[in-house]
Amino acid sequence: MANIPSSLTSFYKEPGPKLDKESPFESMMERFRFAAEILQLDEGLFQYLASPVKQVIVSIPVVMDDGKIKVFEGFRVIHDNVLGPSKGGIRFAPDVNLDEVKALAAWMTWKCAVVNVPFGGAKGGIRCNPKELSKHELERLTRRYTANLLEVFGPDRDIPAPDMNTDEQVMAWIMDTYSMNSLKTETAVVTGKPIILGGSQGRKEATGRGVVTVTLAALSKMGLMPNKTTVVVQGFGNVGSVSAELMYEQGAKIIAISDISGGYYNAEGIDIPEAISYMNANNRSLEGYENAQPISNEELLELTCDVLIPAAKEDQIGRHNAHKIDAKIVAEGANGPVTANADSILEENGVMVIPDILANAGGVTVSYFEWVQDRQGYFWTEERVNRRLNRMMRSAFDNLYAVCEKHNITMRQAAYVYAIDRVAETLKLRGIYA
Ligand code: GLU
Repeated sequence: MANIPSSLTSFYKEPGPKLDKESPFESMMERFRFAAEILQLDEGLFQYLASPVKQVIVSIPVVMDDGKIKVFEGFRVIHDNVLGPSKGGIRFAPDVNLDEVKALAAWMTWKCAVVNVPFGGAKGGIRCNPKELSKHELERLTRRYTANLLEVFGPDRDIPAPDMNTDEQVMAWIMDTYSMNSLKTETAVVTGKPIILGGSQGRKEATGRGVVTVTLAALSKMGLMPNKTTVVVQGFGNVGSVSAELMYEQGAKIIAISDISGGYYNAEGIDIPEAISYMNANNRSLEGYENAQPISNEELLELTCDVLIPAAKEDQIGRHNAHKIDAKIVAEGANGPVTANADSILEENGVMVIPDILANAGGVTVSYFEWVQDRQGYFWTEERVNRRLNRMMRSAFDNLYAVCEKHNITMRQAAYVYAIDRVAETLKLRGIYA
């Protein structure tokens, strides 16, 4: 790490506590401080970009199927809208909290900047256990959350999308609730909608497709052939299963996969299309999958492989297990699967990490295409979507790789340097409204 000062000084400092369970917001800030130091970012700009524009907490009363009222807590954080309207998903999970949503919102800002998409960053969430809610309860919850945020959302203001445990049906309810209140159909207020409602071809697969585009680019920089590589994928949802399938199509050997039911390992390689059919026929779960041997989540992450794709959730590789990771490339399909504390351990061990804000940016890239198509009222073929997605992901990879080489820093550091520089330059031109 040549050009880099060994200790952070002045206002970039003030690192948060080194907790064992690392705070996602602190993880984000640690990387942000590092990039700010390299860029010698002005103190005022640093403070501006370290503070979310808006943080909204709403109470969401819902009449449950048994007639009782239950009140849920919902969040929407707009980290920044310098590059354009803010953009980011909404997650439903029992442990969603403001710290997490703040970190995820900031990551969206940097992610959009990395792929040159003209959006700012936002994120939302509702603290609930979606598995315990009926479809009607989920609908009422989603519609009331949307109604509470009518002044925040808007096709030119803030545009939600799917995230953990939310899907195209949830987006359809948000679109409808917003449209009913606007007295006109506003398809561009959300992305990740069903295709028939103004969704985009290829949006569902976009995140996994983007992960694979940048993984292939990284393999080629290392002189490795995709059909001679072994791959481990953690998580078999939208991102993990598509990444596994596309790597399989490239001839890679997928030696392990996992979902909430556990890990599945086969040294000879797993037949991914067959595993996907099994999951679809089995209530979207790999539980009981027999063509591989069961392993734990920890064992899966520590397998020797060329490419590890953590595509489940945040905080999977931390100080406790980073030294046991035995992959050449870690491509972050999920948001924040590697903590800031693990970064330097992986770097010392020569593991190339393709950071989340690049690796999983395919989702928001095709969300941008969806928004453009909705506003034009003209829809593209899947082939056009995929071609443009591949081009944008590949060019983002090349841009970051050049920053890496210029400063002799990691891909993650390069991604933050590139993104923060872009947002800060735009902010300087726009100036501060008074
Ligand atoms: N939730 C996805 C992400 O974290 C997609 C966001 C979007 O398309 O707006 O990137």
